[in-house]
Amino acid sequence: MNRSTVWHPFTQHALEPPMTRIVSTEGAYLIDTDGNRILDAISSWWVITHGHRHPAIMQAIRTATEAYDQIIFAEFSHEPAETLADRLVAIAPAGLKHVFYSDSGSTCVEVAIKVALGYFYNRGEPRDRVVVMEHGYHGDTIGTMSAGERGVFKAAYEPLLFGVDRLAFPEAGREQRTLDMFEAFCRSGRVAALVIEPLVLGAGGMKIYGARVLAVLKEIAARYDCLFIADEVMTGWGRTGTMFACEQAGLSPDILCTSKGLTGGALPLAATLCSEAIFEAHLSADRRKTFFHSSSYTANPIACAAAVANLEIWRGEAVGARISSLETLHRRNLARFQGDERFANIRQVGTIAALDLVAPAGGYLADVGPRMRKLFRERGLLIRPLGNVIYLMPPYCVTAGELGQAYDAIDEVASNVLAGA
Ligand code: PMP
Repeated sequence: MNRSTVWHPFTQHALEPPMTRIVSTEGAYLIDTDGNRILDAISSWWVITHGHRHPAIMQAIRTATEAYDQIIFAEFSHEPAETLADRLVAIAPAGLKHVFYSDSGSTCVEVAIKVALGYFYNRGEPRDRVVVMEHGYHGDTIGTMSAGERGVFKAAYEPLLFGVDRLAFPEAGREQRTLDMFEAFCRSGRVAALVIEPLVLGAGGMKIYGARVLAVLKEIAARYDCLFIADEVMTGWGRTGTMFACEQAGLSPDILCTSKGLTGGALPLAATLCSEAIFEAHLSADRRKTFFHSSSYTANPIACAAAVANLEIWRGEAVGARISSLETLHRRNLARFQGDERFANIRQVGTIAALDLVAPAGGYLADVGPRMRKLFRERGLLIRPLGNVIYLMPPYCVTAGELGQAYDAIDEVASNVLAGA
């Protein structure tokens, strides 16, 4: 019996077994109380990039705790936040000049939406519409839920969610429809921003679309003075093969949201990067033009120090080479499923690989998801299918052998589930 008083996220406690207690983490593994090593094939909800407890990041955290705890971030600043902001601006797509800190993926997107509205409001031309893409996911606050796909998860909160204009997902061969929809929305003159996950919609089912669509969406946005908000919370930090996914479309967003891999996944931290024009629209002797957003833990110095250490790893270690070899390993492993009737939509972008189990009832709440998850766990793997969508997004330290085990497990589990086992 689960006697824990903890209420876990995205967990139906009436159906789930007691939580597995983890006592330590190491590289690509979670280690439980019985000493079992569980291969973290989804990087603990996509946050761990290099591997669990990268020594340089853990050392930076230890060092930072000698000097800092939390420091109020209005009136005061500190070296880790300043250094990190400078370094982020240096590696981000051109034109992003200012860094606003927050503490989760949801909040950095929430900040992005607020700052976009503030930009137009402060310029005396208020706009009130936000354009998003169907199947998008941007977080679980009221604002980011509004921007995301609706459905069973949001039914209870629907009355509080604000209306958005939704683009059709650009299915291969039907991209023009999405582009035309965007242009039609923009023509209203009321659109403040497009909020979009570049190249891959993560929680919506690892849906991949082309860089060209993204580039044209940016062109249209620029033509109508609509701000382009890239939600790189999942795609950032090498997941799609480049540091940020926007790079593959050769574009600079007006606002870029980053979290998850920002600290290599070790501590919660997020940043919203903005163009000079957006910062300047909030710069005034009139206090009413201030950007009114704060949270107690803004720019936690220990988390910022972890992020600076993460950037050092990117600079000093062969992260790019690890990412390319992971890309190759995925491609080779996925090849074995080509033409396999059990699977559809075999796909990959950078270090993310996904395939759909051809199961009778799809959708997120379909039983096949939890059934597969249980069978993966019995094989020592943490893999959480999104309905019938099986995906792997391991940390970059994963070895060829470990990845091979994950693919073997997919093969076996798919057969078992389809056979009703
Ligand atoms: N945006 C995207 C694209 C995400 O994938 C996520 C989290 N999966 C979020 C925002 C929200 O991040 P968090 O869970 O840290 O609030």
